Amino acid sequence: MADPVLTLSHLKKSFGALKATDDVSLTLMPGEIHALIGPNGAGKSTLIAQVSGRLMPDAGTITFRGRDITRLSVAQRARLGLGRSFQISSLIPEYSARRNVMLALQARGGSAFRFLRPVMLDRALVQGADAILDRVGLRGRASVPSAELSHGERRLLEIAVALALEPACFLLDEPMAGMGTEGVGMLVDFLRALKSEAPILLVEHDMDAVFALADRISVLVYGQIIATGSVEEIRTDPRVREAYLGEEAT
Ligand code: ADP
Ligand code: MG
Repeated sequence: MADPVLTLSHLKKSFGALKATDDVSLTLMPGEIHALIGPNGAGKSTLIAQVSGRLMPDAGTITFRGRDITRLSVAQRARLGLGRSFQISSLIPEYSARRNVMLALQARGGSAFRFLRPVMLDRALVQGADAILDRVGLRGRASVPSAELSHGERRLLEIAVALALEPACFLLDEPMAGMGTEGVGMLVDFLRALKSEAPILLVEHDMDAVFALADRISVLVYGQIIATGSVEEIRTDPRVREAYLGEEAT
C-alpha cells in the first residue's frame, strides 16, 4: 500500500480542563477524500488548526510526506505543500479576484515565474490567474473586488487561491458553509475532480455532500475518533448513529 500523505499520531490538545483533541490518530492517503464529521464543538476545527500549524498540539506527532512537521510554523508547512484551511479567509477584500490569485501565484514563487522580467512576469501571472479562475468558474468575475463577490463566489475564490499554491494536500474546514444548493452541487463536482490533484482532509457539515464525496469518514465526538470507515460502514455503524447521525442516517 502507498504511504500516507499525512499522518496524525496520538494528537492531544486541551483548553484548560477541556480535552478538545483527545488522542486522535488518522491518515490521509494519496488520492482520497477523508471526511471528518462530528457534532458542533467535537473538536474538528481544533484538529485542522493543529495540522495547519495555527495551534500546537500538547502531545503527539504530525507527519507530512514522511517528515515530522509537528513543530513547524504555518508558513513552513505551507512551503512544504500543506494546503491551508479555509475557515480563515486570507483574501484581500479590496483586490480583484484576479489579483488575489496572482498574489498566491507569486507567493508560490514557482520556477515558471522566477526568471521573468517584471512586464513579462505580470503577463504570466495574469494568464496563470485567469486559467485558475476559469477552473473554479470565476473567470467572468476576475476584475471584481473580492469584497463585492457573493459569499459562494468568495469560497470559490479561496479555493482558487489554494489551487494557485499547488499544495500536496488540501485542508478544508466546512467549505460548503453558507452556500446554496446550487453552489454545493458545483463544489461537490469540483472537489471530486480536485482530489486527483491532491488528497483532501474535509471537515463538512453537509451530510449529503460528505456521503457523495468521501472515500473514508472519521467521526469525532468529544475530541475522540469513535469510528473510521467507508460511507456505508459509517452510515450503518450503531455507535455513530447513536452519537451523531440520529435519524438523519435513515
Ligand atoms: P468543531 O469545529 O468540531 O465545532 P472546535 O474545534 O471549534 O469544534 O471546538 C472544540 C471545543 O474546543 C469546543 O468546546 C470549543 O468551545 C473549544 N475551543 C476551541 N477553541 C478554543 C480556544 N481557543 N480556547 C478555548 N476553548 C476552545
Ligand atoms: Mg468548526
